[in-house]
Amino acid sequence: MMNKAVFLDRDGIVNREIGDYIKRYEEFELLPELFPFLYEVKKRGYLTVIITNQAGIAKGLYGHELVHACHDFMQEELKGHGLAFDAIYYCPHHPDFGMCLCRKPQSLLIEKAIGRFSLNPEKCLMIGDKDRDVEAAEGAGVKGYKLPANPSLEELMKCLPDE
Ligand SMILES: [Mg+2]
Ligand SMILES: [Zn+2]
Repeated sequence: MMNKAVFLDRDGIVNREIGDYIKRYEEFELLPELFPFLYEVKKRGYLTVIITNQAGIAKGLYGHELVHACHDFMQEELKGHGLAFDAIYYCPHHPDFGMCLCRKPQSLLIEKAIGRFSLNPEKCLMIGDKDRDVEAAEGAGVKGYKLPANPSLEELMKCLPDE
């Protein structure tokens, strides 16, 4: 039995895009639309996975601790509603400071999740706010959707296939 997942970019889809890296814990604000969207996604039997570039780490703007603190907060908030993410993958690299294989538009992190959760890529989808989110998805055989940053619930829902 193969599983299916909704992959989400983080900044601008899960938490509010502020036009800059999230460098302080106080700047990490979950979008209210996320809650009803994840509720619908889980109801339809999808796993949920975040795939995010966090090049601010490579640039020395913030550390892994900040990323973990934001994610711990997020998971606690979501857990209270039964909506916690099944996995979170982030790339801490930036090409100015050394190449890596995991930064979107590369597909490695999506492929890791596909392997870990025995996902059928054809049943999965990825939602982001940049072209590279869609490219990363397509590289892994997953349908990608590019939405405006901080999308409406309606825009999010439209990415889900008709039942
Ligand atoms: Mg984004
Ligand atoms: Zn990387």
